[in-house]
Amino acid sequence: MSDVSPVLMVVRVAVAAPLDNLFDYRVPHALAGRPLAPGMRVCVPFGAAIRWGVVVELAPINAPDDGVLRDVLDLPDSEPALGVDDLRLGRWLSQYYHAPLGEVLSIMLPAALRAGGVLGESRPKGWRLTDTAPVEIPRAARQSAVLAALRAAGGCLTDEQLRGQGQILRSLASRAWITRCPLSPDDTQAPIPEDCGVALNAGQQEAYQAIRSSLGGFAAWLLHGVTGSGKTEVYLSVAADVLLAGRQVLVLVPEIALTPQLVARFATRLGGGLVTFHSGMTDTARREAWLAARAGQARVVLGTRSAVFVPMPKLGLVVVDEEHDGSYKQQDGMRYHARDTAVVRASQVGVPVILGSATPSLESLSNVAGGRYQCQRLDQRAGRARLPRLELLDVRRRPMDDGLSAPLVERMREHLLAGGQVLLFLNRRGYAAALTCHACGAVEHCRQCSAPMTVHRARGRLVCHHCGAERGLPRSCASCGESDFHMSGQGTERLEQALQGLFPEFPLERIDRDTTRRKGSLEAKLERARAGSARILLGTQMLAKGHDFPGVTLAVVLDADRGLFSNDFRAPERLVQLIVQVAGRAGRAERPGEVLIQTHHPDHPLLQALLRGGFDACAAELMHERRQACLPPFSHLALLRAESRTAERGRALLRCCARRLSEAGHEVAAWGPAPAPLERRAGRFRDQLLLSARRREALHGALSDLLSVAREWPESKGVRWSVDVDPQDLG
Ligand code: ADP
Ligand code: ZN
Repeated sequence: MSDVSPVLMVVRVAVAAPLDNLFDYRVPHALAGRPLAPGMRVCVPFGAAIRWGVVVELAPINAPDDGVLRDVLDLPDSEPALGVDDLRLGRWLSQYYHAPLGEVLSIMLPAALRAGGVLGESRPKGWRLTDTAPVEIPRAARQSAVLAALRAAGGCLTDEQLRGQGQILRSLASRAWITRCPLSPDDTQAPIPEDCGVALNAGQQEAYQAIRSSLGGFAAWLLHGVTGSGKTEVYLSVAADVLLAGRQVLVLVPEIALTPQLVARFATRLGGGLVTFHSGMTDTARREAWLAARAGQARVVLGTRSAVFVPMPKLGLVVVDEEHDGSYKQQDGMRYHARDTAVVRASQVGVPVILGSATPSLESLSNVAGGRYQCQRLDQRAGRARLPRLELLDVRRRPMDDGLSAPLVERMREHLLAGGQVLLFLNRRGYAAALTCHACGAVEHCRQCSAPMTVHRARGRLVCHHCGAERGLPRSCASCGESDFHMSGQGTERLEQALQGLFPEFPLERIDRDTTRRKGSLEAKLERARAGSARILLGTQMLAKGHDFPGVTLAVVLDADRGLFSNDFRAPERLVQLIVQVAGRAGRAERPGEVLIQTHHPDHPLLQALLRGGFDACAAELMHERRQACLPPFSHLALLRAESRTAERGRALLRCCARRLSEAGHEVAAWGPAPAPLERRAGRFRDQLLLSARRREALHGALSDLLSVAREWPESKGVRWSVDVDPQDLG
């Protein structure tokens, strides 16, 4: 021990707790020699408990230590877990989404590091190709494919990238064609292939050159290109340049789009050093990927929403594919939007961000109109594929069997007999939307939610799609005792049954959350769909997102009307995006495709705009409506929600907020408090107060004010409240 005792320090800690302030702690003598810097994880006493947090500031203790401060319990790391850039992003998130900094920083860490855990060097484990490995193994397509993938990635792939291939890997290893290895930094520095395989067409070239010229500073690009126009090729070309300059690339994709095909496409084209990051990974795998990115070892991070927080010290480019996708918005806890967060992150570190979509959000289009984003368009499909023909199918007064009109069935038959594949889209899983008593009309409701139960017939269950509650099908009606039930409304399960009856000779693949629960089943189904062995593809929005089905010649939107008439103002935008995305699945190869939209409202202005001028005309129409109604992107919204087991308790809190709002004279309009569209969920009554402001600052000012009211609300016991800035879902 030296006789000069080190200066004692105070650390200001963002504790992972739902409290808005930071907390000061003293670093005791026992820990005084440890490295200390903002961004380090720290373990502290908190009330009677022990919590983890992140140091955000430090200062020497000047005044004589009066013993008020409590001591830090542990400082486990020798370096900050979160860097300066990460802390800055965290502060922005905390302010913008009105979430406590401690919670935000905790969310930014992978789960395995939120409460201790070793921050050590990352050595993701994986498999390496040996010298004896053959190029191909006759009659073993899946084994050959794994070898090819390894070769494409420069010889090594991580366990994460090879997930689900355990058996194949064991058999390849038993013949010494591959060996187990921790991936070394060398593997992740395999050369970046210079020749990218395709020559960019004129439109792609222009987009690529424009974006490339913006490297080195912040720029937000909207890459608005029809499905199949080669947007991904543009990302890949820009990304390759960024990697060659020694920087890292962050690529965000929607939840459902992250398939091994996409990972392989990126890995093949960008060389090794790619890690994935998504919710399907184990905590350990996520920790490894996070550490590899933070160490600069992973050159490319390809992931879903939460990957936007992965630290990347050498970040040079951010890509958000399918930027309009709803899965970028987190729906609980800190309700952040990963696309918006990505743009802010790019601007904070001064790098370009590319937002790609065939159907951009109105928000992004308005950012282009306002000059905040630059736009590059790709209006032609790459290769020779042509865009499909769109047609409305007026089903008024036509007999409908299980949601299928006769002309539709006829058209399907033509396409199937001609060798094409048919894709049908219906955004409701299960058999029927409700079970109604034929004698008295009573509908089977969820006991916990104000919503009918969905019939899942094959399983013989009623399921609530809001809370997950299940029960068996009733024998008789609880109200009148009769046992004659009517199943109303179509679900994918019912449609599957109907189609099997109509087209027994054509193999069918149903893709929705119920049929893809088992690990690997979505993959297998998509593979059969792509390969063409399934002729009829039927599914929910899972099918409409970013998958490539070259053999589909007819795509069908079965129930467009639900999107036209909804109490959610975004529903028509989503419908149009969906139709255009579904249309993008048809006629991708050299066969021209057709798209049929079944509707009772063929004269609806939105559908007419779609026929007349495609997505652009619809977007203009929707933009006009939003402007008239002063809805986003022409105003800014926030939703205060309150839930309680006893009716009225949450509403009382919101009422108090509304009162404060009118007293304080904020430039903010308020609607409510009112019951949420789904009044009760999982046994809780739900109320909401919707705020709208022309100016963002006004909204944020009002929110800070209201949140202080909510935090001090004396009867908060039993009331859960939350704030949702830029809500996507008003339910
Ligand atoms: P998007 O991301 O816009 O949907 P992709 O980049 O996936 O489009 O391209 C669609 C298809 O066209 C892919 O099969 C791709 O390999 C092919 N493609 C893209 N660009 C070209 C090009 N310049 N020349 C030939 N084929 C291309
Ligand atoms: Zn329920």
